[in-house]
Amino acid sequence: MSIAVSSVTKTYGSQKALNQLSFTIEKGSVVGFLGPNGAGKSTMMKILTGYIFPTEGEVSVCGIDVLNNAIEAQKRIGYLPEHNPLYADMYVKEYLQFQAAIYKIDKKEVFAVIERVGLVPEAHKKVKQLSKGYQQRVGLAAALLHNPDVLILDEPTTGLDPNQLIEIRALIKELGKDKTVLFSTHIMQEVEAVCDRVIIIKKGEIVVDKLLSEIRSEDSQQIEVTFDYKIEEQFIKRLPHLKSYKNNYDTTWFLNFDTNEDMRAVVFDFAQENGLKILGLNTHNQNLENLFRERTN
Ligand code: ADP
Ligand code: MG
Repeated sequence: MSIAVSSVTKTYGSQKALNQLSFTIEKGSVVGFLGPNGAGKSTMMKILTGYIFPTEGEVSVCGIDVLNNAIEAQKRIGYLPEHNPLYADMYVKEYLQFQAAIYKIDKKEVFAVIERVGLVPEAHKKVKQLSKGYQQRVGLAAALLHNPDVLILDEPTTGLDPNQLIEIRALIKELGKDKTVLFSTHIMQEVEAVCDRVIIIKKGEIVVDKLLSEIRSEDSQQIEVTFDYKIEEQFIKRLPHLKSYKNNYDTTWFLNFDTNEDMRAVVFDFAQENGLKILGLNTHNQNLENLFRERTN
């Protein structure tokens, strides 16, 4: 196992940020770590990388007990913190050489890593002159310098523009070919594009831990429908194959069905039978997004 987390609890004062979290990650997988703001993602990542201690529980990376042997574990981990601190006034190359010197890494590695993350054209610039996307690459480069087996990336794509996002995503995917990667994000498509597996947490507890292949193969569709009048829940419940529903706005319903059959026609008939008009109807087939909405609401 590359990562093993066993019954981890973390309390800040009286607040429980993590509650009995357990999961393991096999070598070579790329796992998306999702959850609403404040769910505990960064806290878990800081514990995994040995920067803070849990209140209870055990954590190991590449078989090394992180709590008793943080330094050894950190040799195997590349960590990109959420608000990655960079030295803005340093030149990219200088910054990475400085990081390499701290960890007693050969200077040659710096050049290899600059190439690997696509920083060559920017390497002669100062960190503060770079766009956010390139600054993230500097952070990634720093995390890769010691050639770790495990990468822990805390929201590596937050704040990037759509092009940068695609580039960093591709880079993560590429890195995932020979490393175990755990990264947090708010973007579902990112998880769908890059990950083998997703772990969703809510209020410090795991609510979903699934392979993307499992999620894709599930029979599930969501219809968002707006009627011209408010209707009672008891009527909605009569729809066939209805797994769950939510009435977010007065006349708008999110209906989840567990079938492959196209339920739009059924919803139309339902409206007609009940003397309702449909003002809007959308189907969503993004199962991961549905799952996230369902489980974190
Ligand atoms: P996420 O990364 O999923 O947004 P965090 O791990 O940052 O969540 O935070 C989880 C919870 O713990 C939040 O409610 C947050 O306010 C709280 N928290 C995080 N760090 C601290 C801290 N140093 N002191 C007190 N509370 C904290
Ligand atoms: Mg966070």
